[in-house]
Amino acid sequence: MPGRSGYAQTVTGPVAAGDLGMTMLHEHILCDLRDPLGRRAGPPADPPITMETRFEIDYFQNRHQGNMLLDEDDVALAELQRYRVAGGSTIVELSTGGLAPQPARLATLSQASGVQIVLGGGLYTDAYLDDASRAASVEELEALLLAQVTSGAWGTTIRAGIIGELGCSWPLRDSERRCLQAAARVQRRTGIAISVHPGRHADAPAEIAAILLSAGADPEHTILCHMDRTIADEARLLALLEQGFVLEWDFFGIETSQYWMGEYDLPTDYMRLDLMRRLIGRGHIRRLAMSQDICIRTRLTRYGGHGYGHILQHVVPMMRRRGYSDGEVEQILCDTPIRLLCYQSRPGESPAPAPDHRHTT
Ligand SMILES: [Zn+2]
Repeated sequence: MPGRSGYAQTVTGPVAAGDLGMTMLHEHILCDLRDPLGRRAGPPADPPITMETRFEIDYFQNRHQGNMLLDEDDVALAELQRYRVAGGSTIVELSTGGLAPQPARLATLSQASGVQIVLGGGLYTDAYLDDASRAASVEELEALLLAQVTSGAWGTTIRAGIIGELGCSWPLRDSERRCLQAAARVQRRTGIAISVHPGRHADAPAEIAAILLSAGADPEHTILCHMDRTIADEARLLALLEQGFVLEWDFFGIETSQYWMGEYDLPTDYMRLDLMRRLIGRGHIRRLAMSQDICIRTRLTRYGGHGYGHILQHVVPMMRRRGYSDGEVEQILCDTPIRLLCYQSRPGESPAPAPDHRHTT
C-alpha cells in the first residue's frame, strides 16, 4: 500500500507499517485499576461476577474492586484470540506506571495469540504513583521515558512503542505536568507518539495541549483520549483538531448514559459516529481515533461483555450504514495508527536524538 512506511515497536519486536493491520489504539490487557489505597490493604471481599451480579457490577463498574483487575492470562489469551478472529491485528496496551504494566507477560500473550501488542511507557495519574515517581523532576522523567523507549521498560528489555496513557487529573497535579513535559522532550528526540488521558473537565484537553506544545510536542503524533466523557462541544473539539492533535473516542461499546465517575451524559456508539462524521466533514479524517479502552472484567466476553472485537464486529458495519466509505474506515482504524506508531525508519533502530532548536530561536 503506497504511503505506508516505517516500523512500529511491539513487545515482540519491530513490525513493518504494511503489517500493522486493524489496530485498537487504546486498550488494556493486563491492568490493575483498583483503588491504590484499597489495593494496599488487599482486595475487599466483593461478590463473584455471575449472571445475577453482572449488570450491577458493570453499571457501577468501579465499585467492585475485583472487576478492576485484569490479571488472568488464560482469559486474556482467549480474548485476544477472539479479536484475531474478528479481523484485529494490533492492540496498543496503555497500562502505564501505577497500573501494574506486564511487558513480559504481554510478549507471551502476543506470541500465543498472534495479536501484535504495542506497549505504552510513562505514568498514570498522580493518585496511582509511588512517592518517588510523584517527586521526580522533568529531567528524571525524561531519562526514565527515554530508557523505556530505547532500551526497555519495567525491568525488561521490551521497549515501549508509544508514551501513554499519561494520566492527568482535574485539576492537573504537578507530577502530571512534569510527565507531560518529559514526554514532549522524548518525543522531540525520538519521534514516538504520545497518548494522554485528560482530567475530567472540558477545559482539561486544551490545558494539556498548551503544556505539550510549549514543551515542543508534535500534535500530529499526539492523541488526546477519552473525548466521550470530556468534551461534547463541537467548537472545543475543532479548536484542538485545528491545532493538529488527534482526538480519540475510546468508549466504543459503552452504551449507557450513566457515568460511573461523575455526572456526564455519555454518548452511544451511534452518537460517537455522528459526531465524528461531522468532524470529517470539516476536513479532520486524519485526526480521529477510535478504541474501546477495555480495562474491567465485565467488558470482556468471558464476563458477558463485548470484548476487543466490538468495533470490528459491530461498529464497522454501523459505520458503513452511516455513510462512512471503506477508505474512511481504513484511514481511522489502520492508516492513522500507522502514522502514529510507525516512527522508526529502520526496524528496531534506537532513534538518534534530533537537534534541539528550542534554545537557539
Ligand atoms: Zn485507558
